[in-house]
Amino acid sequence: MQNLYGINIWGDNNFIIKDGKININYKNRPSLIEIVKNIREKGHRGPILLRFPHLIKKQIDKLYFEFNRAIDEFEYNGEFNALFPLKVNQFPNFVNSLIDVSKEYNYGLEAGSKAELIIAMTHTPLGSPITVNGFKDREMISLCFIASYMGHNITITIEGLGELKTIIEVDSEFNHHIKPKIGIRVRLHSSGVGIWAKSGGYGSKFGLTSTEILEAYELLKESTLLDRLYMIHFHIGSQMNQIAPLKKALREVGNIYADLKKRGAKELNAINIGGGLAVEYSQHIDSKELNYSLKEFANDVVFLIKEIAKNKNIDEPDIFTESGRFIASSHAILIAPILELFSSEYHEKSLRFKDKNPPLIGELYALLKAINRSNAREYLHDALDHMESLLTLFDLGYIDLEDRSNTEILVNLIIKKAILLLKDEDTDELKILQDKIQEKYLINFSAFQSLPDFWGLGQNFPIMPIDRLDSKPTNSATLWDITCDSDGEITFNRDRPLYLHDIDITKDEYFIAFFLTGAYQEVLGMKHNLFTHPTEVIVNFNEDGNYRLDNLIEAENLIELLEDIEYSRNIIDKRLKYMIEESKLLNHSQKRDFLGKLYLYLSENSYLKTIFNYKLY
Ligand SMILES: *Cc1c(COP(=O)(O)O)cnc(C)c1O
Repeated sequence: MQNLYGINIWGDNNFIIKDGKININYKNRPSLIEIVKNIREKGHRGPILLRFPHLIKKQIDKLYFEFNRAIDEFEYNGEFNALFPLKVNQFPNFVNSLIDVSKEYNYGLEAGSKAELIIAMTHTPLGSPITVNGFKDREMISLCFIASYMGHNITITIEGLGELKTIIEVDSEFNHHIKPKIGIRVRLHSSGVGIWAKSGGYGSKFGLTSTEILEAYELLKESTLLDRLYMIHFHIGSQMNQIAPLKKALREVGNIYADLKKRGAKELNAINIGGGLAVEYSQHIDSKELNYSLKEFANDVVFLIKEIAKNKNIDEPDIFTESGRFIASSHAILIAPILELFSSEYHEKSLRFKDKNPPLIGELYALLKAINRSNAREYLHDALDHMESLLTLFDLGYIDLEDRSNTEILVNLIIKKAILLLKDEDTDELKILQDKIQEKYLINFSAFQSLPDFWGLGQNFPIMPIDRLDSKPTNSATLWDITCDSDGEITFNRDRPLYLHDIDITKDEYFIAFFLTGAYQEVLGMKHNLFTHPTEVIVNFNEDGNYRLDNLIEAENLIELLEDIEYSRNIIDKRLKYMIEESKLLNHSQKRDFLGKLYLYLSENSYLKTIFNYKLY
């Protein structure tokens, strides 16, 4: 079986491969390539971000299903509730889809800033929970009170005693009438694991220490807010790839919960376990990220809380989760065209044979023509040997630059052919050779904009071509984005190799997809070199099983982008116009023509047109 890019490790059955193409494993199973071509036919160029709401629904369904199953299985008396943490993806095409597909649940939104709170207030269905975490000022706390006057079921999580004091003041200002529920975030001793583990642990930015929790309890009691204390909250960091730290944290938090309950917090009735539920990003079985399943995760949470409640003789609390990465990652796929291959000079058509060539060149050519499965290894060694001799001859001045170029091309072609013929033998020698003949693929996207966690933290995302999967990819691939920054490169890594097809970009289109990019990447993405958020579209499915493209949002055009970083459209317009009109090098009709061109270019986004297109026009 050929390498299918680990799709059975990270793909979660969301895709099927048919006729060499990746198809969406849903309804009429359209292929990604047909969806992309359909969008490009409408004139859109550059990278395209596809959103699939059915994949958001799938994750929400799984989360509720496994927790409710565990609740049944362990005869647990509390309820399960979930919230989506907005910081993971605040884009309207995502949030609106999320609200739409989660209608059958009491699914809510978690906000960590004023702007996110406004999204939560205007998008959460009345009655579904809202939680507000992170540092808050008086205004933000007032917003929470206003939300509760609107009828929202909102909980303010206090991250420090100062915040609680402000809540008490705001409560007086609002005449102690309607008020939000209150949660307390615990500063845990336990911390998570992996690159995002900082949210837990004693040095964490967030939460109250034991002493502060006791003080908070006293303050709540004195201020008559104790009957609003509803939730205990923790979050031990994202992409928690082992389950042990969660269990440890649950024991800590469960006992704090029980203690407060015993002390007299009658309305306290919920434990919020935050996020951290991890996603499998790996394309290689030996670098898998997860050591647990959602089922195990749900079982552990429900069982452990039940056990603590039993030991402490208290009622079993409702359980809240704020999983973000788990819900959002799989819904977005970024697809970008290849613009160029950078060792394409190694083509047979680039050979420059003369009437009389050095004999070793003739031999290399004969090796290339005669290499087959049974002689591949021997011919490969001969070719490498000849190359050494020819390069020495060049250094000594016996052969010229054309001979040297022919040598490089021929040896490169022989190595490629040998690798293809010997593909079933994974010897070190072949792997080393593959490293040497890496192909650089220039991709029409920005890693800074679309994969910031790769750039900043070295997080890998599944990458693969979306067609030609019925032929074996032979090029060890390094990917270059189109920024002028050498960090915008995904280098070939022998431990996690990526092979792509050898294509002639002047004849064929070739698209690369980046999967699991729906969590964190979009809003963390930055406009380095002034590349913008890509054109995005929602792929919904009709009753009849066919897909339709909804809410297409084009990437910002050049002038919008410049305005976004506070350039004046007016000044840019005026200067361009002035410089064309005053130019002594242009006649009247050229001026009109050039101005027309400039305005057209300004109305397009900053991604490149394919080189293939330039050839057509
Ligand atoms: C970031 C965050 C989450 C989401 O974490 P994931 O790992 O994406 O599930 C949940 N709760 C809080 C408080 C957070 O800060």
